[in-house]
Amino acid sequence: MPRSRRLCVLTNAPQSAFVINLGVLYPGRVTALDIANQPHGLEALSEYGSVVTMVTHRGALDKLDYGAVRAFAARGGTVVSCLAEYARSLGLGVTKSLVLDGSQMPAIRVRELSEVTKGFAVGDEVLWFGKVSGATYNDCNPNQYYQRQVLGLEGRPGVKVLGVSTLNGGAVLVEERVGRGRIVAMDLLSLKEPFYDSWGSTNKYLFLGNAIGRSVRYGKHYPRKLPYDALLDHMRQLAARLPALTFTEEGPASDGRPLGSLTVGNPDAPAFLFTNGIHGWEWEAGYGLLHLAELLASDPPPEGLSRDMFHVKVIPQLNPYGYDHDVRHNANGVDLNRNFDCGWADYVGGDDVYQPWDFDYKGPYPASEPETQIAMRVVREMRPVCLLDFHTAHYIFCKPHRGDRRLMNSIHAEVKRRLKDRYLLQRPYSTEYCQANMDREVDWLQPTPHFIHWAAEAGVSAAVLIEMSGNRNLTQALVMNTDTTVEICLAAMKQCLKRARR
Ligand SMILES: [Zn+2]
Repeated sequence: MPRSRRLCVLTNAPQSAFVINLGVLYPGRVTALDIANQPHGLEALSEYGSVVTMVTHRGALDKLDYGAVRAFAARGGTVVSCLAEYARSLGLGVTKSLVLDGSQMPAIRVRELSEVTKGFAVGDEVLWFGKVSGATYNDCNPNQYYQRQVLGLEGRPGVKVLGVSTLNGGAVLVEERVGRGRIVAMDLLSLKEPFYDSWGSTNKYLFLGNAIGRSVRYGKHYPRKLPYDALLDHMRQLAARLPALTFTEEGPASDGRPLGSLTVGNPDAPAFLFTNGIHGWEWEAGYGLLHLAELLASDPPPEGLSRDMFHVKVIPQLNPYGYDHDVRHNANGVDLNRNFDCGWADYVGGDDVYQPWDFDYKGPYPASEPETQIAMRVVREMRPVCLLDFHTAHYIFCKPHRGDRRLMNSIHAEVKRRLKDRYLLQRPYSTEYCQANMDREVDWLQPTPHFIHWAAEAGVSAAVLIEMSGNRNLTQALVMNTDTTVEICLAAMKQCLKRARR
């Protein structure tokens, strides 16, 4: 029986932010039924492919017909439940644990892998908590963390505890096989809606999305942001483990340390250059590029690609000084993405005094900086058909004043298709919730001293600046970031290779 894509939320709070945001994640597919006064027996549920239960108060638990929910699952449906009603259906209750001294941030420790935990490995810890104050900002009331758990689930037939609480070992992420379907239970109530840079709730919709919509395809969690030297070591280790991968020191950056790259594929095939971190504090997508290199060098490479078809170089962090110091500039205080020899003389930045460390300081002369020179040399040597230069602000696809517009537009269309209905996040500097997608685009008409403009003038057909979400201070969003980065690179490779075959 083909499953409907429609999703039903059984709740006592049909107007809640949770219900509204589910509708943003799955537009046109979500119906909320108020358990107090709307029928939600098995017959009512049978027109849906999945059911989410979200009871926000113990006083409303009696109103939910969980027998119908279980029967729905038994017929092959997918159910995602908040913990209390799930525990109650098994004759159990929930515990609520507080961290009053702020000594640790409660997390899920992944214990078993399934489709639901895709993107994470056993032992990974996923921050997962609420705040008594309800504050969204990370640094506000940092001693008020809490999290719910179910104790006593161990050993029940059909029940897998996928994730346990780092506070007390109780179950916080559960998957139960029920007949031909399943129930996935997790604490959705402690977590506030994911503020752009919230520590505890960034992944609130991720496990739910994995259960209902297959959110994560290529994403990979990294436990911490590595210092640059450790990042280089990680790249060397990757290349040692995967013979198809070559680690190269491309030359010294402005702080004297080497710019590292990873290269994979056939030097005679169409070439792709993927760079990140030219603005040092925009670091996240670099981990996606690392993971892309790992995937392309593994057997088999994803999506039917073979390594004789492409030549890919990734430079995960183009600005080691800025990466380690969490600033935009290189060690000389230059905004490297205003330093390229393209419209440089005409570029007017800064204010009455224009000097190093100004937001967009373009440097003393064009291509004055070693990082800029290395980037230019790599483009001249590789002659890539496509350059993707990753930044972070929000998801925006930025095209330069020159190049193959049809090719860039086809890449953009494929990126949008791939990212549809996968991730929910809040737009930075805004309260608006939206999908992590690439619906927004910028068409630059004038040359400016950006890397992509210079590259477009140097003959790169598709030189695109990709704005992603990021600039967080922990790795809590890296599954989403790495996943969307890999998807964007694969979309570019697929479209360019399709064009090359014609
Ligand atoms: Zn940037």
